[in-house]
Amino acid sequence: MQTFFETGLKPEILESIGKIGFVKPTPIQSKTIPFILDSDNDLIAMAQTGTGKTAAFGLPILSKLNINAKEIQSIILCPTRELCLQITQDLKVYSEFLPVSIVPVYGGAPIYQQITALKNKCHIVVGTPGRVNDLINRNKLDLSSVKFLVLDEADEMLKMGFRDEMDAILSQTPSTKQTLLFSATMPPDIAGMAGKYMHKAEKISVGRQNTAHENISHEFCVTKSEHCYQALRRLADINPDIYSIVFCRTRIETKEIADKLIADGYNADSIHGDLSQAQRDMVMNRFRNKHLQILVATDVAARGLDVDNLTHVIHFHLPDDQENYIHRSGRTGRAGRKGASIAIVSPGETRKLFFLEKQIGQKFIKKQVPSGEEVFEKRLSNFLQHVTSAEPQGYDLSKYMHIIESSLQSLSKEEIIKKFIAIEFNRFHADYQKAPDLNISATSERVATKRSINGSRREKFARYSINLGAKNNLKPDLLINIINRQTPDRKIAIGKIEIQQKVSFFEADIQHEKHLIQAFRRAKYKGMSLMVQPFQKK
Ligand code: ADP
Ligand code: MG
Repeated sequence: MQTFFETGLKPEILESIGKIGFVKPTPIQSKTIPFILDSDNDLIAMAQTGTGKTAAFGLPILSKLNINAKEIQSIILCPTRELCLQITQDLKVYSEFLPVSIVPVYGGAPIYQQITALKNKCHIVVGTPGRVNDLINRNKLDLSSVKFLVLDEADEMLKMGFRDEMDAILSQTPSTKQTLLFSATMPPDIAGMAGKYMHKAEKISVGRQNTAHENISHEFCVTKSEHCYQALRRLADINPDIYSIVFCRTRIETKEIADKLIADGYNADSIHGDLSQAQRDMVMNRFRNKHLQILVATDVAARGLDVDNLTHVIHFHLPDDQENYIHRSGRTGRAGRKGASIAIVSPGETRKLFFLEKQIGQKFIKKQVPSGEEVFEKRLSNFLQHVTSAEPQGYDLSKYMHIIESSLQSLSKEEIIKKFIAIEFNRFHADYQKAPDLNISATSERVATKRSINGSRREKFARYSINLGAKNNLKPDLLINIINRQTPDRKIAIGKIEIQQKVSFFEADIQHEKHLIQAFRRAKYKGMSLMVQPFQKK
């Protein structure tokens, strides 16, 4: 996930994190945020200290809260008073533009103030296990409406001997809640605790390792982002017996693509987080029984689906990490059969492809988006194949020969063939007659060849974002200074600069891209961490 905008978080939350300068989700965030937004299943998430775990659970929980229901919907347990205050503070910042109330409760402070605070209803309680348990025992804290329970720094809480309190607190929460366990390490007692408190928990860690499958050909085609859907149609059309999952990034996109496919007459449907369990089961069953040929899904929604005999895995958007990619593509090429994993990428996404290539140790093969003519030929030969093997079933056509003969006697064999095909294909051909070529070359739209400032040679400029803007008093010459300061050992040609409120954009010579991004990894400006990222113009 490149930006928070793709996660499906509430706009008010995007606004607040934009304000504090979060540009890109950290790796753990890019995995947990969509999971928590899309799924009600429990989660065990592991990532080192300092990787942004508070926002990893805080943002999606804030997004999922029912603001109108003033009852405790979430309880967040953490080991210390400091952490409790820190989490509360962070959540308040993230929810600046939402009327969410959050109450911290912790030991070592007068309990009656906390009791008073709890009397004014709130949405979230952040607490240390000892004090939370105490408040429950005094009947001052009612956890019966909790939907999200977070165990933050679960390993630390166990180390500090909070096991009994945690047991007692958990027994006061409804069994329907979603339990989210965050930890920096995974000692055996955490695994034990997870087994006890959690059901079918998803495990997410920001580790790596895995390899891709052999019977799978990894393919991609490049088209403009506005043509991705048409390219998807062509792929479906040229593979009439397709049995495929089309992976999207967000549930909104998932719905959109499925709706279009259905409207265009495909045998398709979608699964995403908005469906009830019953609706989900129904769609999954139809897909399992092959009554559906195409299922559009997010990674998270597809998790629970035990189908791996797909003919094609289609990436409407590539995932950000190789684990999800391998997960997806591993659903084809099974049982000795060949399978294709096809990514439909826009020019800006091709770099992700090269990154994945390195990660999975396999080359992607560039394929053309089929032309209208190719699709037509394929459909025709497929249809004729079906014709040769078709037999009347359950009725005797000879009984009706008189009707057939009287209707067709004036037609020659060729004419009859033509007319049968016309019935089947006229509309199809009309659709495809004007079908444009959807291919474009793999060079990035982001890359523009321009004359450099001094005009002496042509530079290939690419566009980048930086998390500084007019709010930080950024001016073009200051930005150039900052870039030069971070990259003292080279002269990087800089092109157009566009300063916005909180972020800015600039063009720079693409041959220094790696160096440039690396150089900004630990860069600070007035105490703020800087981040430079490739940025594609929409
Ligand atoms: P952890 O709980 O994993 O130790 P924290 O949640 O305390 O980490 O976050 C560590 C720091 O990183 C905090 O200062 C937080 O504001 C910052 N941070 C979190 N997410 C992001 C992000 N996406 N971009 C920039 N900074 C972030
Ligand atoms: Mg933390």
